[in-house]
Amino acid sequence: MNQLSTKPEVLLGKSLEELTSWIEAQGQPAYRGKQLYQWLYQKGARSLNEITVFPKTFRESVAQQAIGRSQIHYCSTAPDETRKYLLKLHDGLIVEAVGIPTDKRLTVCVSSQVGCPMACDFCATGKGGFERNLKAYEIVDQVLTVQEDFGQRVSNVVFMGMGEPLINIEEVVSAVKSLNSDVGIGQRSLTISTVGIKGKIRELGQHKLQVTFAVSLHASNQNLRETLIPSAQHYSLESLLEECREYVQITGRRVTFEYILLSGVNDLPQHAEELVQHLRGFQTHVNLIPYNPISEVDYQRPSKQRINQFKGILQQQKIAVSVRYSRGLEANAACGQLRVSQQQASQQQLSQQRA
Ligand code: SAH
Repeated sequence: MNQLSTKPEVLLGKSLEELTSWIEAQGQPAYRGKQLYQWLYQKGARSLNEITVFPKTFRESVAQQAIGRSQIHYCSTAPDETRKYLLKLHDGLIVEAVGIPTDKRLTVCVSSQVGCPMACDFCATGKGGFERNLKAYEIVDQVLTVQEDFGQRVSNVVFMGMGEPLINIEEVVSAVKSLNSDVGIGQRSLTISTVGIKGKIRELGQHKLQVTFAVSLHASNQNLRETLIPSAQHYSLESLLEECREYVQITGRRVTFEYILLSGVNDLPQHAEELVQHLRGFQTHVNLIPYNPISEVDYQRPSKQRINQFKGILQQQKIAVSVRYSRGLEANAACGQLRVSQQQASQQQLSQQRA
């Protein structure tokens, strides 16, 4: 038998029907599937032994069954109440999740991979290399962990933590479905953000999800984009925009474009005007993200005046635009900062243990 297929089956991420089949296969009545479902997704059970509505002998016999929950390895809270978590996975790798409370909402920024292979020049995650894709249950776990720690229901999830969701599309789509049906978060309150991978935007469209979809454009022309995003060398801005148009056609949902503002690099009036040309006739919303400084490169965040000037040019051309200031800067939890010495230290420790 294949070595990999002997890995224990994990329960988190399974639907009510799948859990019911699993419980029946253990010789238990079908209604216990519903109980298991509630204990996993609502009560946050971390071991089957905790499920007190199950008969004691059964609980004991399946106590070792993997549920699929991570452990909080580290948590820091910023003055604005944003909490950043480093979560330890079953193989000892560390992944990051952020909880962002606003008024009555609680948004979780989840990772889709451990590290990221895209190596965008302004992004701290990209500087740290890539380890592996996350499984759907490891994404769902991040949301449950933040929900439990805040003691408050999660209202929104953004796939803007570590990793590139579209190179892990199957697990991301399956996490979206579980977050929607099992955790109870509306699809429109889930945002997938991508740097754009050839063919994958169309593929995502074909899943016909109702999620909010955001594309990290970050540049108003191909040359500039290639200097910031290495993968753009294999994917022209024109083809990217064409695929986005197809996405709109297939799903009937608009596309949000994210545009990081780097002082003197891509934030001049000529860039704004160039961007307008590309977006003409597009059903879209532009999210301007003032750069959050990271230690590895010396880009600068533009002045407020420069940000407003850029925004003004888009507005004049009737393009819906907003500026997204990252929360949690002080907890190193802002976009692009999701990599801290703490995590590097534990990753190093792990490699030493493995060596
Ligand atoms: N790989 C996906 C999602 C992860 S990053 C993507 O590229 O969209 C989520 C967002 O944060 C992206 O728009 C990304 O470009 C942005 N980001 C990365 N580093 C940043 C930084 N230092 N300052 C501001 N935004 C950053």
